[in-house]
Amino acid sequence: MTADPSTTKPIKADDAETIETDVAIIGAGLTGSLAGAVLARAGYRVVLIDKRTVPPHEFRVEKIAGTQVEIFRRLGFLGDIEAASSTFDRVLNIREGKVVDVSVRRAYGIRYSDLVATARRLLPDSSSFIRDEVTGINCSADLQHLQLASGKRVTSRLVVLATGMAGALGYNLGMTRRVLAARHSVSFGFSIAAPEDAPFDFESLTCYGGRTTDGVDYLNLFPVPDGMRANLFLFRDPNDPIMRELRRDTKATLFRLMPGLQHYVGEFRVIDQVQNWVMDLSVIEGHVQPGIVVVGDAFQTNCPAAGTGVSRLLMDVERLCTEYVPHWLETDGMGIEKISQFYSDPDKIAADQRSLQVAHFRQALASSTDIRWNVQRRLHFLRRSITHRVDRIRPGWIARVRSALR
Ligand SMILES: Cc1cc2nc3c(=O)[nH]c(=O)nc-3n(C[C@H](O)[C@H](O)[C@H](O)COP(=O)(O)OP(=O)(O)OC[C@H]3O[C@@H](n4cnc5c(N)ncnc54)[C@H](O)[C@@H]3O)c2cc1C
Repeated sequence: MTADPSTTKPIKADDAETIETDVAIIGAGLTGSLAGAVLARAGYRVVLIDKRTVPPHEFRVEKIAGTQVEIFRRLGFLGDIEAASSTFDRVLNIREGKVVDVSVRRAYGIRYSDLVATARRLLPDSSSFIRDEVTGINCSADLQHLQLASGKRVTSRLVVLATGMAGALGYNLGMTRRVLAARHSVSFGFSIAAPEDAPFDFESLTCYGGRTTDGVDYLNLFPVPDGMRANLFLFRDPNDPIMRELRRDTKATLFRLMPGLQHYVGEFRVIDQVQNWVMDLSVIEGHVQPGIVVVGDAFQTNCPAAGTGVSRLLMDVERLCTEYVPHWLETDGMGIEKISQFYSDPDKIAADQRSLQVAHFRQALASSTDIRWNVQRRLHFLRRSITHRVDRIRPGWIARVRSALR
């Protein structure tokens, strides 16, 4: 559905003290930028506000894969993502020095800052982007008012709050965050290079942790346009001395935590800063309010090891911007009855719940010493390696059996 062209005159953000628009999006990370692009391309007046002109080099999602690829395709953005990334099709999966299996599927490696910059470029009119900090919000069932640090104001019919996991703005409206799992996981991100910058022997490699006491879920190595990235995910006390060792003597600590890794990776050096994050799993509360809708990490945080953050935010963007906002803008008002339709969307709820389920699954698989999980862990990797071996002997056989059984 597209907007009535008579109401879609571009805004002149720089020369107006009060900017009027249909939708004001606060936060131009991946969620806000994609939401802005979808709505603006459908003809709605959109203002996208972020306090930073250039997305910083922060460690966040660095690869797009699986269902995420499908949603990017549906939104019409996959070509742009592909042009800015390194593509890879095969991941060699190893554990305790042995091959578990080889996953074959198209994936895209890209730094988060480049991903966000690409998403911002999808806006059809760059003047819809405003570099500013939103310092105040006033929402109602009629019009919404934003106060910016520069003194400018924005008036809109709807506010989309996409301020990420640290966004404090919702607190001004009485929203709170409920922590579901404090310090749930620890993630490390850094770049590596082989001696003399020779190519590695693999396209992409995942090494799973072996001992539950180490709490290592997996190390994933994959290409991005400027080299080879490493993402390491652990479920372990963030104050454990191993964290400092991983930052200071990364390679030796990895080889110690994952015996057998060296055989597949060979010698390498870490060539940039080792960034790390400690993640809480949390969800927003008190968010069902008129005039404002909360999306992406601002709504719920994710376990990086689960790799579901982008699936969730893409679901938010797709359902909100292709289904609900077009209907909401057809009639006057932006009351709770409209806003709550989005939060009740079955696909959105399923994506949010799945993200939490996968987070708990990964934690238990990597670190639970419970007997049930010891058995489950063995079965999990055994099943994968049997499937891999059978499929190597008789390619496509497993897929044919599965489809025959359906
Ligand atoms: C270490 C790590 C690894 C991850 N790995 C994966 C992975 O492999 N796979 C996966 O699917 N997901 C992963 N994720 C999750 C994924 O990165 C996030 O879900 C995603 O980046 C969230 O995007 P966002 O736009 O909601 O938030 P953000 O990217 O945080 O964007 C929020 C934006 O809001 C702006 N902002 C905030 N307050 C204001 C204000 N008052 N005024 C103006 N602007 C404001 C900020 O400047 C920022 O640009 C990972 C996360 C982390 C932390």
